[in-house]
Amino acid sequence: MADSAAGKAVAECTRPGADVSDSVAALKSLLTGSVPEGEERRSHHLVQLARRYGTTPFTTLREARRELGVTRPEFAELLRTFGAVPALREAVRQAPAGKYWTNTVLPLEARGVLDAALEGRPVYPSSVGLYPGPSCMFRCHFCVRVTGAKYEMSTLEGGNAMLASVIDEVPTDNPFAVYMSGGLEPLTNPAVGTLVARAAARGFKITMYTNSFALTEQTLNRQPGLWDLNGVRTSLYGLNDEEYEATTGKKGSFRRVKANLLRFMKLRTEQDRSVKLGLNYLILPGRARRLLDLVDYMEELSAVNPDRPLDFLNLRQDYSGRDDGQLSGSDRSELRDALAGFEEAVRDRLPTLDVDYGYALNSMRCGVEANLLRTTTEQMRPRAHPQVAVQLDLLGDVYLYREAGFPDLPGATRYIAGRVGPGRSLYQVVDEFVSERREVAPQSGDEYFLDGFDQVITARLNQLEDDLADGWGPARGFLR
Ligand code: SF4
Repeated sequence: MADSAAGKAVAECTRPGADVSDSVAALKSLLTGSVPEGEERRSHHLVQLARRYGTTPFTTLREARRELGVTRPEFAELLRTFGAVPALREAVRQAPAGKYWTNTVLPLEARGVLDAALEGRPVYPSSVGLYPGPSCMFRCHFCVRVTGAKYEMSTLEGGNAMLASVIDEVPTDNPFAVYMSGGLEPLTNPAVGTLVARAAARGFKITMYTNSFALTEQTLNRQPGLWDLNGVRTSLYGLNDEEYEATTGKKGSFRRVKANLLRFMKLRTEQDRSVKLGLNYLILPGRARRLLDLVDYMEELSAVNPDRPLDFLNLRQDYSGRDDGQLSGSDRSELRDALAGFEEAVRDRLPTLDVDYGYALNSMRCGVEANLLRTTTEQMRPRAHPQVAVQLDLLGDVYLYREAGFPDLPGATRYIAGRVGPGRSLYQVVDEFVSERREVAPQSGDEYFLDGFDQVITARLNQLEDDLADGWGPARGFLR
């Protein structure tokens, strides 16, 4: 078999339904060319490793070796060989859980920030979330925010000056290092456009996560800096007035958000703005069948200018009510069918739409059972990972987890690393927290302060730590 054909066959070994014996045979032919004694057993083990890490990325090397039943020297040799065959690495990247590797783990490994977190070394946080919103006009039933809790308007002036100073401080080597979100709704801050313009002038490509209720033409006229955003990611809470109201508690919010988005699409064309517009849609229990209506909705937005259609969609499944992170059999088959119809409709009617299905839905599309990552209290890391990501609210409080940055949220202040303010930079806060080796002892329920990203980072750091403890220093983490 030619090397390129063999490489392709190997890279496909993690595809659901792939014929493993074909991949093993292809791998054998590759190994015979480059590594002596490329025998059947070893090829089998390597394919097994690719499949294991392609579906369960946070497996420890200890567990992987136990599963294969090989000695330490044999395992070390397998890891060395795995690293020498690019097609095997590609197989993991293309696997059902490959997005964990390609979207999150490998880029962070390349920047060395996970090592900094493991070693307890202070470095500038790789991701800085700015939470500029003093309030929110919605009350979504799944949102952790405390009803009525908000930041006083008197905090705005000082808070915006503080956020501006952080924007000026963040190193510019990663254009995606800063984003705006909440916490509460960013567009409730009347100076958020000025902050965006400031960040864009430093080269940052800012995405704003918003409910878009306030994304009106008046807001855009008052805050022209919003046009400097790289992306507007609108959380969509339903596809008609009833659904929206049931989720957000606000009457008429569906119509208003839709009108705002249509107007935004029109204005960005008229003014030739490069900002991308996308949606975030959570499939709530019992609403899988609504996915085709979502396609109609997106098509309607895109029809404003067929040359400049909607740019992206992030589709997620709501698991918040399921403690074990699992769907029932009937929910799963309904969702799988709905996804198939959705994909076909998107292919036909919105061919340029960039759809991100996230890990769980992506696995489901591939016909694989996805176990959603669920961090337990015991798995939380007392020193968290401020080298990887921090979030700042209007008070300058630096939160260690993304779902903790809400005012008056019980227990959340324990996850404040410190406060940025006049004469005190974000780096100083992080440096002090890390250098003093400060810890927050996790309490039951604290795991809800972690969003999906925090959970991935926690799982990865725990995995790396176990690999190190088991004596696999240079091979820690399997792929890096
Ligand atoms: S989820 Fe967002 S829009 Fe909904 S209440 Fe919470 S902060 Fe507001």
